[in-house]
Amino acid sequence: MPICKFCTQDTKLVKAHIVPEAFYPVTGDSGQPMMLMTTERDWAERSHKGIYDVNLVCSYCEARFANYDQYAAELLMQGRHGQIISSEPNFTLIDRYSYRLLKLYFISVLWRASASERPEFRSVSLGPYQDRARKLIENDDPGRDTEFQTHLFQFDEGPARTAFLNPHTEYFDDIRYYRFYMGGYVTLIKVDNRSARSPLDDNHIQPDKPLAIGRLKFRGSSTHQLLLRMARSVRTPGWLDPDTRQ
Ligand SMILES: [Zn+2]
Repeated sequence: MPICKFCTQDTKLVKAHIVPEAFYPVTGDSGQPMMLMTTERDWAERSHKGIYDVNLVCSYCEARFANYDQYAAELLMQGRHGQIISSEPNFTLIDRYSYRLLKLYFISVLWRASASERPEFRSVSLGPYQDRARKLIENDDPGRDTEFQTHLFQFDEGPARTAFLNPHTEYFDDIRYYRFYMGGYVTLIKVDNRSARSPLDDNHIQPDKPLAIGRLKFRGSSTHQLLLRMARSVRTPGWLDPDTRQ
């Protein structure tokens, strides 16, 4: 029998999502079914269910994630729990949300992506940080805000809100981050013991501070360029381009 990667018990494993199903909306703002996109070469399927892994965790361990998944989905996808206190062109501020549940949600997605052997997540490899993430989840401890420091963004428009791309590594001033796309959000999570430097040293998820969701400009962004190249490579009509999409 395969071994649960979280508790290392030899036990029956379950279908486990890496990014929970609630972050795969049924339709995008174009009204089309969600597009699940992986890489420029490995396109792409329409998906309502998202990517799951049958070799990751047992039902007991999967249940550890359930609270975090549910809370994050309700907060970010359904607008429940928090209170929007400011909505500016460049960011939204949400007060009265749970730092613990939201931070642990992102840590648990990071752990799942790293522990998974699904090809879509192969670029996520935490090394020694994987066990640290596991410990935090096991102890229901979100850790310090600068550990796995997490930044949250949303694109201002366009298909990036409904397309999923594989997570990948990014470096800012030589500090390593992973970028995840989920449910129209872009998340940067620091996986590095060193402190972040400006402009990424502030506005991350912190206890006792409102949640800041930065707005990213889609047109002309590297994500826009990537989506356009992917669309061309699979000969999909111009729905990915806000200039041609109706
Ligand atoms: Zn387990």
